[in-house]
Amino acid sequence: MSGKLYGVGLGPGDPSLMTLRAVEAIAGADVIAYHSARHGRSIARSIAAAHIRPDHVEELLVYPVTTEISDHPGGYQGAMDEFYTEAAARLAVHLDAGRTVAVLAEGDPLFYGSYMHMHKRLADRYDTEVVPGVTSVSAAAARLGTPLAEGEEVLTILPGTLPEEELTARLAATDAAVVMKLGRTFPKVRRAMERAGRLPEARYVERATMAGERLAGLADVDADSVPYFSVAVLPSRAGRERPERATDGHGVGQVTVVGTGPAGPLWLTPETRGALAEASDLVGYTTYLDRVPVRAGQRRHGSDNRVEAERAEFALQLAARGHRVAVVSGGDPGVFAMATAVLEAASAADYAHVPVRVLPGVTAANAAAARAGAPLGHDYAVVSLSDRLKPWEVIAERLRAAASADLVLALYNPGSRSRTWQVGKAREVLMEHRAPDTPVVVARDVGGAGEEVRIVRLAELDPSEVDMRTILLVGSSRTQVVRRGDGQEVVWTPRDYPEG
Ligand code: SAH
Repeated sequence: MSGKLYGVGLGPGDPSLMTLRAVEAIAGADVIAYHSARHGRSIARSIAAAHIRPDHVEELLVYPVTTEISDHPGGYQGAMDEFYTEAAARLAVHLDAGRTVAVLAEGDPLFYGSYMHMHKRLADRYDTEVVPGVTSVSAAAARLGTPLAEGEEVLTILPGTLPEEELTARLAATDAAVVMKLGRTFPKVRRAMERAGRLPEARYVERATMAGERLAGLADVDADSVPYFSVAVLPSRAGRERPERATDGHGVGQVTVVGTGPAGPLWLTPETRGALAEASDLVGYTTYLDRVPVRAGQRRHGSDNRVEAERAEFALQLAARGHRVAVVSGGDPGVFAMATAVLEAASAADYAHVPVRVLPGVTAANAAAARAGAPLGHDYAVVSLSDRLKPWEVIAERLRAAASADLVLALYNPGSRSRTWQVGKAREVLMEHRAPDTPVVVARDVGGAGEEVRIVRLAELDPSEVDMRTILLVGSSRTQVVRRGDGQEVVWTPRDYPEG
């Protein structure tokens, strides 16, 4: 009968953090296997040392390469694959002979560990048990003595080997994080923390629970001193005092104008997600604020959608008193939304010293276009049909100009309960220049529960089918509608244009 394979998690370093099951598995094993570099030392073996007996057969699985330089024809990956296959074959010889094999793994065997390469090659053929271990993530939090994730906070685990941009986006968007595999990646991880605005809260833990353990603020760590066995930690921010007073000495906060995208969190950018999380105050139209999850300690100032100037001024006043304010719009905050109102109010001398930044969001036109195909693939114009802030004559003139220039049109604010005639009038104006069968995308509540995207002809465009949550995309003379094999119609506008 074949022997049994164990993947034994040994915890983060302190031997007293091994589980009873790990000790049992080692005691019952005939063969103790572990990975090591060419020097033959193994952290895993040193953790388990007190439980390894002279009668245990020790099987060293020595990596051919530890850096990514290799003369193997398949490169680094090729060398590693060959090594794992050969190592698994060596363990299989013991298992076939009826010997029980314990593969030692620092931390947890299935968490970024080498054991999993043996597991994938052997577990389908041999009786296998994985003994979970305390990971460096838990060990680091315990040594820091700070909560890691509380309530609905999201904890993100990141390998430091990711590209800097990817790290930055993930760090900006998450509540708590642990970055593994530091060492040579440290300068990049530090830059990503800084770019994500998270460096001040970032902690550093080296060799958690091992000899030579070191804790520090990440910003204070000398890059040359960072070993592989270290992690960066962004602890939980729940219940933490929100920094209302900025550290610039003047007590001024800031206003960040954000857009939540056209619908749910799928179209919220990581940058905006992060800005919403770090704000002390949220200011905006209640409908948009309702899209932002409630956070303890964060104040929400909802209003209706008419009082833009007051809302902007209120946000600036809060910021002038040291609050970190996020002004929340739907879609993109610069498209018929709050960014202009905030910058207009901020132009007053009183607010010249208050920092204002605008973060981009996914606007309704782009979301609707993507649903319908690619109607905005060529030149297009964006017009709001609302005559609340500009006279209808101006709107009609712009529609005429865009239509005569054969531009595709994205029409925001086409109508509401009180504005019902604008779509009919717009259709009349457009028909002066556009054929009756011009495709129009009527997109309602894109990305939301009530999403409905239809393709109609300009002549059939029915104003009663349009409401506050609708955007219209009117094709040019070149815009095509094609029925696909699945019966769905798609709309696209070619990128070329014939010579006139
Ligand atoms: N800042 C927003 C636009 C605000 S004007 C943005 O960038 O999208 C409000 C208009 O946007 C609505 O009347 C409608 O025309 C359009 N709109 C916003 N979200 C939408 C959605 N999910 N589906 C369709 N239209 C939407």
